Order: sequence, then structure tokens, then C-alpha cells
Amino acid sequence: MKTLIKVDLNTPPEEQDVIHNRWHPDLPMVAMVEPGDSFRVECVDWTGGQIKNDDSALDIKEVDLTKVHYLTGPIGVKGAEPGDLMVVEILDVGVLDDFQWGFTGLFAKENGGGFLTEHYPDARKACWDFHGIYTSSRHIPNVEFAGIMHPGLIGCLPSKELLDNWNKRERELFDTDPERVPALCTLPYADTAHMGRMKPAEAAEAAKEAARTVPPREHGGNCDIKNLTKGSKVYFPVYVKDGGLSMGDIHFSQGDGEITFCGAIEMAGYLDIRVKLIKGGVEKYAIVNPIFEPSPLEPRYSNFLIFEGISVDENGQQHYLDVHVAYRQACLNAIEYMKKFGYTGEQAYAILGTAPVEGHISGIVDIPNACATLFLPTDIFDFNIKPNADGPKTEVTPGTDLAKA
Ligand code: ZN
Repeated sequence: MKTLIKVDLNTPPEEQDVIHNRWHPDLPMVAMVEPGDSFRVECVDWTGGQIKNDDSALDIKEVDLTKVHYLTGPIGVKGAEPGDLMVVEILDVGVLDDFQWGFTGLFAKENGGGFLTEHYPDARKACWDFHGIYTSSRHIPNVEFAGIMHPGLIGCLPSKELLDNWNKRERELFDTDPERVPALCTLPYADTAHMGRMKPAEAAEAAKEAARTVPPREHGGNCDIKNLTKGSKVYFPVYVKDGGLSMGDIHFSQGDGEITFCGAIEMAGYLDIRVKLIKGGVEKYAIVNPIFEPSPLEPRYSNFLIFEGISVDENGQQHYLDVHVAYRQACLNAIEYMKKFGYTGEQAYAILGTAPVEGHISGIVDIPNACATLFLPTDIFDFNIKPNADGPKTEVTPGTDLAKA
């Protein structure tokens, strides 16, 4: 495979002009390809090397989240015009020779937070070793599983009109509770913007309005879909001339929802990509958000314990068909169950973020309770985690935990 874009893991990402960390329509293309081309794109990890392979979570606690995500691109496809669909096949995903490990963070409530931050407010870290397709962590014993490597973040540049729309609606949300911790959303922040190959004067102006990369939006972006692995195919709406495809935030594995926020197994890596165009495809297929086809290759986990959650919160308060509340209860139920086998709550939380856990909306009409389900694959544990008449035996190697700050 021809390497179209290389990154240097020993140089700060803000010094590499093939990398950017904001969305803006005027970001210059760093490479051009023809429809039908296949090529390799290397990516730094989403924090740009801020997190180390050690036993302290101080780096997670102090991570500068205004710098994320560091993306490689944008890549132009000759002939792409607004209204086309860019067909992106992910031919392969892999690790880089000098980055043979991954990390998972539980972010501190005051710096990022996560889905269960009210229950687990402190910074924690797990480091993972890779063994071919398998991974295990010294911080979470008795678990090993096959990864479904995928880009957490991939998408095309927005148009000016779309960018203005994002900024308007996100600002309106932010202003409803500007003091909230964690914040309701991440507004443009010029100080740490890295605008790729833009000229300094132009970049300084654009950085004031350039969108942060945190949420998924109409262009795809940070969708964190665990099944977007090698062999899958995505149809992206094109908003600017040449399209401008950027990618990064590669995960070795992730559970549905990426619930700890830095919840996947994060890594630097490469993506092998093939691009094509469907002229006028946005209109032809009524596309608003990208659509995708899954891979014929995926790890096969078929034995699960399925935890239910309903839209009644931790205080017993009834919510109306609230899937957010229901999925949180499913996660909390799974964590309390795993704790019976010797895991700490933080370890169990990290397992839900990283292992090939499935999240489903099972019921959304049975007033007043939504029913969300969390599928925990039982074969990832090296002991029997199913219920039986003798009760749970503590099987987890004692004395281990995630790294603390
Ligand atoms: Zn990620």
C-alpha cells in the first residue's frame, strides 16, 4: 500500500502541517487523490502523544483537551463537489511499529468527565498491550479480547454555511448553562487551534470560528462507531470543493457508547483507504448524516450477559422515555455485577468502554420507561462470569486497579 501521508510520533503534532485539530472549510488540502485510488494514512493518537505508557494517571488528569483531536488530512478527491457522496472504504486498520500499545482514560469530572462521571469523578488510566488481534491490560486482569480496530473520527470538511449553523446551535446550548462542569459543549477556542497548512494570518482568523472536533455532526466526525473497522464502507456528504477527508482517533477496540469518554483503547495507527465518488449522491439518496456498510470481518462474540436499564434514575425518579437515563442504569447494573467478582468499579467501567460491548435501544414506546440493554460478552473473561446457584466467586487477581493520578 502506498503511504500517502506519514506522521512523526517524535515531533509535536502542532509542528506537522499534515495534521489539524479543528474543522474549517478553508483548511488547505495536504494531498490530492483520484477517485478509485487506494492509499495509506498515518495518524497520531487523538491527544497527540500527551498520554504515556506508565502507571500514573496524572497525564489523564492534566490532559489539555482543547488540543484534541489531532487529525490527518484534509485529503482532496479530484472532481468532488458539494452535493456528491464520497465513498470511503476502510481497507485496513493497523498499529504503527513504534506505537505498540494503547490507553484508556477515565477523565476527571472537572476535565472532560464521562458518561458516569457523577459516580466515577477521578482521573484513572489503563494501558493495554497488543498481541496481534488480541489485547490485555496490566491494570485490568483476567480479561483478554479481540479488537475491532476503527477510526473513532472520520469526515469531510464542512461548508461555511454548515459551520455557521454548528456554531450558532452549539452556542445557544452552551448559553443555557455556561457554568456547567463538565461543559454542555465545546465552543471554538483559538489558542490551541492547529489549522494545518493555512497561512498564519488566515489561520488566526479562521481559528476563532473553527469547530472543535468533539461531537459527531452531519459530516460524520467523532461518531465513535466501533463497527467501522477494516472492510467497512462509509458514504460521506461532500460540502466543499475536493471534499477534504480527515481522520484520526484510531481505536484498537471500543464498547458501544465509548462511555468513559476516553473510553476506547486509544492508539496511533494507520488507515488504508480507497475513495470513490457518487456524483449528486446527497440528493439522490436523501443523505443528511453519513451512512455505512459494516465489514464482512469482525470478531465473533455470541455469548453475552445482557443488562437492562430503564428510565428511572439513581434517585428513583421517573423520567419519560429517556434513553440516556436508561442506558446509564444498564451500565451501572453491569458494573455492580462485575464488582461481585473482584473488579473495582473503575475497572468494570473501563471494561464497558473498551471491550466489544453492545448497546441497544430495546424499547422506546412503553410509557414511561425506555428500555436500554447492554450486552457484555462473557468470553472475554478467563473465568465463568455467569450466575449460578453457588454465587459469585472472587476470581480477579487481587490488588490490581487502574492507575491513579
Ligand atoms: Zn478515541
